[in-house]
Amino acid sequence: AEAELIRAQRFESLAMLAGGLSHDLRNLLQPLLLAGDSLQDYQEDPRLARLGALVRDCGKRGLDMVQSMLSFARGAHRAEQVRIGGLFEALGLLMQGSVPKTVTLHIDAEDPELSFDGNHTELQQCLLNLCLNAIQAMPAGGELHVGAAQINLPASFFRFGEDAQPGRYLCLTVADTGIGMDQEVLRRLYEPFFTTKTTGTGLGLLSCKRIVASHNGVMRVESEPDHGTHFYLYIPLAEHVDASEQDEQDNLQGNGE
Ligand code: ADP
Repeated sequence: AEAELIRAQRFESLAMLAGGLSHDLRNLLQPLLLAGDSLQDYQEDPRLARLGALVRDCGKRGLDMVQSMLSFARGAHRAEQVRIGGLFEALGLLMQGSVPKTVTLHIDAEDPELSFDGNHTELQQCLLNLCLNAIQAMPAGGELHVGAAQINLPASFFRFGEDAQPGRYLCLTVADTGIGMDQEVLRRLYEPFFTTKTTGTGLGLLSCKRIVASHNGVMRVESEPDHGTHFYLYIPLAEHVDASEQDEQDNLQGNGE
């Protein structure tokens, strides 16, 4: 229980740091974005206009990152209708250029039209984290499978004291045939800053877990050294979801504080 408390405290400090940092960064990025935006319309000098567009695009990307850091810090997320097909298409696009020739990527949804309450951006970030980890775990190549299926979970499934309800769940899977993990790594997986990589942050899986938890879901992992790793994200499906009520939102600036 004490270890749990220390972990929670570390996590809170981290969230506070992320919150403070992203707040300041946003204040820096917003004027930059505006400057880039006005410069790109500068007719007299096309070179300057191109630079303006570049500044604007970088500023926009920075703001996106800041936005996801802010939602990480707050643990809140905007609810919308997420369509599996849309989520997987976006993931495929983001993965382009990050998949080495030696790795085969399969992205397959049982039912691409399935929609559920969630946050597209956060889940995309989460899947992307898992996929990039998987690729890094396959230096000699291999197979990366991303899947989605519906499943009924009984109460006995939640044996780790999670406060999730039995019922119908979406199961997102990210499976690789890479180096796998030993018991020690598995035990420390979600520790802030725990990494076995020289350039790792040790925050990827923690933020995945946080995103899944903010969807009232749970995360599971199965791994065997030299054989590979399966990550499972279980997200509760509300009953009567109307897929036609697509909640379009491309609000890059976020809404206020
Ligand atoms: P980072 O990727 O920055 O190290 P993460 O929190 O995403 O941070 O991952 C923590 C550690 O978990 C990694 O350093 C790695 O040892 C292990 N890990 C994560 N995903 C995989 C995977 N698919 N296969 C093997 N090891 C993994």
